[in-house]
Amino acid sequence: MLELAVCEWLCGEIGFPRSAGAVFTAGGTQSNFMGLLLARDYALASRWNWSVQQNGLPPQASRLRFIGSEMAHFTVEKSAFQLGMGSEAVIKVPVDREFRMDTIALADTLARMQKEELIPVAIVATAGTTDFGSIDSLPEIARLARTASAWLHVDAAYGSALLLSNTHRSKLQGIELADSVSVDFHKKFWQAISCAAFVVRDAAQLRHLEVHADYLNPESQEEAGIPNLVGRSLATTRRFDALKLWVSFQLLGREKFGAMVDRTLELAKHAAVRIREMKCFELLHEPQMGCVVFRYVSKGPYADADALNQRIRERMFERGEAVLGHTRVHGRQCLKFTCMNPVTTEHDLDALLERIQVTGKELETGST
Ligand SMILES: *Cc1c(COP(=O)(O)O)cnc(C)c1O
Repeated sequence: MLELAVCEWLCGEIGFPRSAGAVFTAGGTQSNFMGLLLARDYALASRWNWSVQQNGLPPQASRLRFIGSEMAHFTVEKSAFQLGMGSEAVIKVPVDREFRMDTIALADTLARMQKEELIPVAIVATAGTTDFGSIDSLPEIARLARTASAWLHVDAAYGSALLLSNTHRSKLQGIELADSVSVDFHKKFWQAISCAAFVVRDAAQLRHLEVHADYLNPESQEEAGIPNLVGRSLATTRRFDALKLWVSFQLLGREKFGAMVDRTLELAKHAAVRIREMKCFELLHEPQMGCVVFRYVSKGPYADADALNQRIRERMFERGEAVLGHTRVHGRQCLKFTCMNPVTTEHDLDALLERIQVTGKELETGST
């Protein structure tokens, strides 16, 4: 009952109609898989009256495609091969300068697919990419998805925390137009691993997952109004993860949660301003969430900037000073802050950037 109450609350926060439903999952990986599974089964049922549950994949399956940006999470491809479509069935749309899906390129992709008689089963928009926290343009992507009769799955594993923010909620505008949404509570909702949810606009779509077992959830129980959570989940036995979230909300309240989210975004903004001011760094994007991706720029003899950024991380780790995040952007090695802790201060970030600068200089000049 408590899981259902938390799920109903979540559907409301997203702005979904009363037909919506949700279920707790093991994480964004499982939620993305569920969204794409429903999208596949819905496409085959609505276009060819075909039941994957009964008959497996039809011959037309080789024409099915998922579409996501280059920055979409790798679990989109993983889901594609687990769903019997192969990772080649994922079409990757380029991103703009802020690492959001280029919607003009998306429109071109859809037009080209139509000519080639490929079926756009689902478009995956990312609200909060793992590397940059960039948020795809949800209203525009929703419009294109509707025109192409494609399912819109919003991977908001990371970005969904903005639902609670008074200042940044508008960045998720259009999420209510999705067919399904992935939410991770073990990221910016500060829950102990694992705690996540899959949310679907029309809960009736969950029938693609449903199986009735006489010992567990016979249809007679459902007719009697007894909740059946097995029917909407990939797992049979699972943990009561909704409890953690519910207790956290009882303790902190929605306002406090929202303020904590806002604080981490403020910290990222501050770091970006400082990085821009310090001549030794290059900032790779304007932070939308808590991620800040940047790079130490070598001016001296230390020619290989990739190796230098790598060495800075290693040196600071070896000295027990900091564990710096990292990623590659267009093949270049970058450093990364992921602001998650609302207790971090601006001073902490300034001091850390200072230390990175000093370490970079030491490595460049060969002094220790
Ligand atoms: C973290 C993340 C995932 C994967 O979620 P898990 O909870 O680790 O399974 C998927 N998509 C995005 C955008 C993420 O940030």
